[in-house]
Amino acid sequence: MDDYGSESDSDYTSYWRDWFISSRGNEYFCEIDEEYLTDRFNLTGLNTEVQYYQYALDLVTDVFDLDCDDEMRETIEKSARHLYGLVHARYIVTTRGLAKMLEKYKKADFGKCPRVMCNSHPLLPMGLSDIPNLKPVKLYCARCEDIYNPKSSRHASIDGAYFGTSFHNILFQVYPALIPPKSTERYVPRVYGFKVHAAAALVRWQNLMREDMRRRLRKMEVESGFKDGEDEDLDEAEDDDGEEDEELQQQIAEYRGANQHHGTSFTGGEPHVGSVA
Ligand SMILES: [Zn+2]
Repeated sequence: MDDYGSESDSDYTSYWRDWFISSRGNEYFCEIDEEYLTDRFNLTGLNTEVQYYQYALDLVTDVFDLDCDDEMRETIEKSARHLYGLVHARYIVTTRGLAKMLEKYKKADFGKCPRVMCNSHPLLPMGLSDIPNLKPVKLYCARCEDIYNPKSSRHASIDGAYFGTSFHNILFQVYPALIPPKSTERYVPRVYGFKVHAAAALVRWQNLMREDMRRRLRKMEVESGFKDGEDEDLDEAEDDDGEEDEELQQQIAEYRGANQHHGTSFTGGEPHVGSVA
């Protein structure tokens, strides 16, 4: 957040938002509409949150007209960036704001998921708190449903409250067609081709439980969110539902029996991987 202080002084009077959006490190922000910024209702409560609120707002809306020294100007500039961020968090959950952020998401302006199995799925910025100055921005991947630190230090220092804790979830509520299919593909640790026992046991157990749940949901005709035929290991018996069901239950029973001898026990539905056999 410190990079654009000095070079900003010369052109701060014209099109402040254009300059802000195009500054290096501000790629996560979209441009807030003039109308949104000039509607006082949208800014409720921010006057106590931002130092020199009125000057900062004047600067953001390009009507700043105060003769002051450089130090004061820099303070107001800093306030303006903070104000823009706080308004940004409110703006991006409006219809217009969501549409703008969606465009950026489609262009992968927020980066791509670093997880190999996510195949470069685009990320969305998010906050871990709605209160400013607590947590920096994180990036959310809708495919693995996990969050990541931004790669660049310029992005890593942006306040998470400028995006908020709800925006990324609201986006998928408003545009449900964008929810990616759940990924069941994952990395299995191996040593020279052999699955590492403890991790492999856990993965097998989780796969069986998921398949069992899917089967039950399908019977009740509830959409599980998992794509059919995504899991290679368990798809061999997909044709006949009854047969498949029995086979699965047998697999689970066998699996439980086998693992008791290996020091892996299951209590209350949770796996406890004891010793590595
Ligand atoms: Zn991911």
